[in-house]
Amino acid sequence: MSTATIQVHALPAFSDNYLWTLTRGQDAVVVDPGDGAVVQAFLDARQLRLRAILITHHHPDHIGGLSLLRERWEVPVYGPAAEAARIKLLTQTLEDGAGLDVLGERYEVLALPGHTLGHIAYYSAQGRRLFCGDTLFSAGCGRLFEGTPQQMHASLSRLGALPGDTAVYCTHEYTQSNLRFALAVEPDNAALQARNAEVARLREAGQPSLPSRIDAECQFNPFLRSAVPAVRAAATAQAGEALDDEVAVFAALRRWKDVFRG
Ligand SMILES: [Zn+2]
Repeated sequence: MSTATIQVHALPAFSDNYLWTLTRGQDAVVVDPGDGAVVQAFLDARQLRLRAILITHHHPDHIGGLSLLRERWEVPVYGPAAEAARIKLLTQTLEDGAGLDVLGERYEVLALPGHTLGHIAYYSAQGRRLFCGDTLFSAGCGRLFEGTPQQMHASLSRLGALPGDTAVYCTHEYTQSNLRFALAVEPDNAALQARNAEVARLREAGQPSLPSRIDAECQFNPFLRSAVPAVRAAATAQAGEALDDEVAVFAALRRWKDVFRG
């Protein structure tokens, strides 16, 4: 294994996806290659060898490039055991708590039902990196296509409990639209206002707003803040009914965001 350090590259694809690609020396690993041609062009330009592919869930914008890449590279394709029937090219199925080596760094699999039922994330305590697919976004979270609010709340709580200095690599550049919603929920949150200004600068300069960090998200992401009185009050006012617990607050926030036009 090369002694070079690991770098993480954001390859833009479609309208707002990042195909996160880790490199170490001339070796590369890609997470959720929705578009194989984008990944292959990056590998060609840098003369990199693809070593593995990691999948978080079965949606087409996360797996669409698998066949093109597998034609070119005979590499392991890791992904959720619970979605193996929907991801035809998986070679290694993973359950919660499984471990794997990614370019010499140790990763743990976290099962995160909610966006889809089998959704997993890849977390390295060693590298302080989290590849969380469509579960956690900066200032937002994924839609509940398959799971319940209870499941998604538990999944997000698990991510919020990771070490604060963990870098969060989300799949989509949804941050500015998420921030408009977060500001409607918590207009007086100073950390949120600061993040909004920072992201405006980054996007104006053509830079990704990602990765984010767990400690920062805990300060301004409403979907990690169901226990905060101001968030509960805003969700209650919007729902027009008493919300019994954090899951009910979370569910009300998610319903609100689904119809929010900011
Ligand atoms: Zn998805």
